[in-house]
Amino acid sequence: MAVYVFPLAPVLSLPIKGISPLFPVQRLFFVGRNYHAHAVEMGKPVDKTVERPFYFTKAPQTLCASGSTVAYPPETANFHFEMEMVVALGKPGFRVSQAHAHELIYGYAAGLDMTRRDLQLVARDKGRPWDLGKDVEHSSVCSEIVPMQGQIIDSGAIALEVNGQTKQSSDVNKLIWNVREIIADLSLFYHLRAGDLIYTGTPEGVGPVVPGDTLTGRVAGVAEIALTIGPAE
Ligand code: MN
Repeated sequence: MAVYVFPLAPVLSLPIKGISPLFPVQRLFFVGRNYHAHAVEMGKPVDKTVERPFYFTKAPQTLCASGSTVAYPPETANFHFEMEMVVALGKPGFRVSQAHAHELIYGYAAGLDMTRRDLQLVARDKGRPWDLGKDVEHSSVCSEIVPMQGQIIDSGAIALEVNGQTKQSSDVNKLIWNVREIIADLSLFYHLRAGDLIYTGTPEGVGPVVPGDTLTGRVAGVAEIALTIGPAE
């Protein structure tokens, strides 16, 4: 048995609705600009006829359970919420066809892709990597995983409130690239694995939070999510 020079970090996991075993989390993939109205509000409209989806990743260590209070992060003055539906994979796949994409699905969750918007936009406009804007500690917030093996969700309300006031309200039927298309396309680049999470993108209405804010959101038919922003460290 291997011996290590310091204690191993615990396995990253999420609770699963209705059963006691945990969902062990592997990689965190995020789809960029996957709702037209959000792409437009970011000043980068999408033409699906000539574009493919694009992705970024965050370290799995950025995973954060729903219900947490997180410190307002350092080195930003514009920390934003992005409410998203999350697909949780339970089987591996590489070069998966759209027709077979559902076979990889373990379930779904509600997620928040919290973002240092100021740093993301500087990086975007200077042609730099997005890591400092996106790969923020505690920024990959996720609800419990709701088992829905082999099921494709192609519609349902998605919404987010800050301090009870609605900020985002849309429907996952407005995804530019739907769940089948995302799994098939992403599997051209990666050998997808059980435990991978795919955050499918945010609708319009993204905006800033400040210390003391409470975020609540949901994907209808899937799950609810909550996050409280604490003082800056
Ligand atoms: Mn996002």
